[in-house]
Amino acid sequence: MSIQYIKGVGPKRASKLRRLNINTVEDLLYFVPRDYEDRSKFKTLRECTIGEKTSLEVEVCGPPNILRPRKNFSILKIPIKDESGYGCLVWFNQDYLRDRFAIGNKLIVNGKINKMGMEIQIVNPIFEKEGNLKKIGKIMPIYPLTEGLTNNEMINIMTNVLRDNLKKVEEFLPVDLRERLNLLDIKKSLMNIHFPTNKDQLLRARARLSFEELLTLQLGLFIIKNKANSYNEGIKFPKVKEIDEFIESLPFKLTEAQKKVFKEIEENMESNKQMNRLVQGDVGSGKTIVAVLAMFKAWKSGFQSVMMAPTEILATQHFESISKFLSSYNVKCELLVGSISNKRKEEILKDLQEGNVDIIVGTHAIIQDNVQFKNLGLAITDEQHRFGVKQRAALSQKGTNPDVIVMTATPIPRTLALILYGDLDISIIDELPPGRKEIETYAVGTDMIKRVNNFVKKQIEEGRQAYIVCPLIEESETLTINAAEELYNNLKEDVFKDLNMGLLHGKMKAKEKDEIMDDFKNHKLDILVSTTVIEVGVNVPNSNIMVIYNAERFGLAQLHQLRGRVGRGNHQSYCILINEGNNKVARERMRILQQTTDGFKISEKDLELRGPGEFFGTRQHGIPELKVANLFTDMEILKIAQREALEIIKEDPNMCSSKYYYLRQKIQEMFKKSGKDLIFN
Ligand code: ADP
Ligand code: MG
Repeated sequence: MSIQYIKGVGPKRASKLRRLNINTVEDLLYFVPRDYEDRSKFKTLRECTIGEKTSLEVEVCGPPNILRPRKNFSILKIPIKDESGYGCLVWFNQDYLRDRFAIGNKLIVNGKINKMGMEIQIVNPIFEKEGNLKKIGKIMPIYPLTEGLTNNEMINIMTNVLRDNLKKVEEFLPVDLRERLNLLDIKKSLMNIHFPTNKDQLLRARARLSFEELLTLQLGLFIIKNKANSYNEGIKFPKVKEIDEFIESLPFKLTEAQKKVFKEIEENMESNKQMNRLVQGDVGSGKTIVAVLAMFKAWKSGFQSVMMAPTEILATQHFESISKFLSSYNVKCELLVGSISNKRKEEILKDLQEGNVDIIVGTHAIIQDNVQFKNLGLAITDEQHRFGVKQRAALSQKGTNPDVIVMTATPIPRTLALILYGDLDISIIDELPPGRKEIETYAVGTDMIKRVNNFVKKQIEEGRQAYIVCPLIEESETLTINAAEELYNNLKEDVFKDLNMGLLHGKMKAKEKDEIMDDFKNHKLDILVSTTVIEVGVNVPNSNIMVIYNAERFGLAQLHQLRGRVGRGNHQSYCILINEGNNKVARERMRILQQTTDGFKISEKDLELRGPGEFFGTRQHGIPELKVANLFTDMEILKIAQREALEIIKEDPNMCSSKYYYLRQKIQEMFKKSGKDLIFN
């Protein structure tokens, strides 16, 4: 039914409601208040304190009195009493109210308390006659509004819609589930979310509505995922015995977490379903080698692999380390980035198409149309947060249902990962290789720069290297680069004049970047001054100091990534955050970074500081919008919803049972709104 025909709406208000994204009766029922005003607490005149808003039960005990202290300004006073004492109701410029009261009237009022001398005043109160209370003595909703629509109007509309339509709402959660979790039924929940009988009922109503929303969302995502898995037949890779030997030959022992994750990948590869797997692991957890193992398996099985990285620096570095890991095998690896010569590119493309290249590493140059494989079996994306869903898809379309791995160093709590990457299986490398020393982190003011520089010098004299990062200037890349150049020149001419320094920024030619990076890696440079281009992936174990200028301009996750560039070797590492100004949120960020190096904790805090919307941009992930639940604050409810959703899917993968009839409909509606048609089998 169109909302226009709801009592109290009409065409004009309907168009205003549409601005609030309310188009149907259901939208209205689920339009939850942003807050509540508790008018349920009563006090006596004696108990009231100045400034509070409260409800009182009073009796009119004298005639109205109107004062006119100035022209165009009047004060109406109605004397009142209760068993504790005397007071008066006060209105400004509303003389017409005088006739509404007679001595002896019993009133229920709610308003703000003021005291003038000895007199207790209730200022601009709302009032109702005893008996049929509508607005006082209750917890009242405060709605998000739009221009030309008041909260009182919303309350009236909501009262009508609940009275006329609530009875038609069907319960869609199975009764056994509701009873087990002690959830309110749907009608009570909708009633209480708008007009709660008390606080407890409000909390229960919110919990139920939040739960149903998260359950619906999670079920929908699980169903999409099951579909993806059952529909796409994938390559069935054989068992590869040589892999153990290869693992034995590595210069280090795999961590338990790496073994566990590779096992998950291996099982996936050997099944006949296409793999779609997210590998999450904090910076330095050793994701690359896990990818190499998978590529080794693909190669031994006669398939080609591709690995895509977001920057040339990173792609080059991956290419080098992959080649090194595989140097004693006859694997043909190639690097495809924008900066190689056309002639070389053509050769590589030809070899790739003819199957003479086994592993190719590159930037997004690799998803261009002219890149063709002979038999792509495995597609890996590194640092997936830098790529969109489309690029990821483009990469896997280079083959026929190749297995897909995406790797990310942005750790998010598992509960959220299940939502945001609902279409992917998730593996987590939740352990760092042993022997890593905790990075010491210090937040300092600009007055400490001299001491910081001396410290850097001393470490360099001991044979170490340092990164110095200057901030991105949001408004302009040119300004950023100027700032980097300026910092570089200042340091080079002054404190570090005897040291070898390099400068790296995004606008440099790829070849120049490579040279600088190589020089730094080979220790021809002591200090690398850089913009955030080194944020992801760069690995130079001898470098043990990270100095970040204007650290207050970076987000938590970004600072954590930057810090992850050090602490990769055997030396004690340091991260020094130089702050300008005294911003509160920035201070909080610095405090968190000093306290922990655990990426999962940091991302949870980041989430808390920024809120989930900003953190993920759920829209970007294509997730239906939530009306009641909040992915962050309702984490506990989310966990329960996920547990229940898993149970349901396990027991009845297509939710065919009649007890899920309405729930299925609900899921379909939710996903339809975000443009996805969910078809059940
Ligand atoms: P990230 O997960 O951040 O991509 P990398 O794969 O770059 O991490 O690994 C970081 C460093 O740790 C590399 O130098 C790598 O060779 C090394 N490494 C990886 N796994 C182990 C391990 N199990 N033991 C010791 N060092 C390891
Ligand atoms: Mg990496």
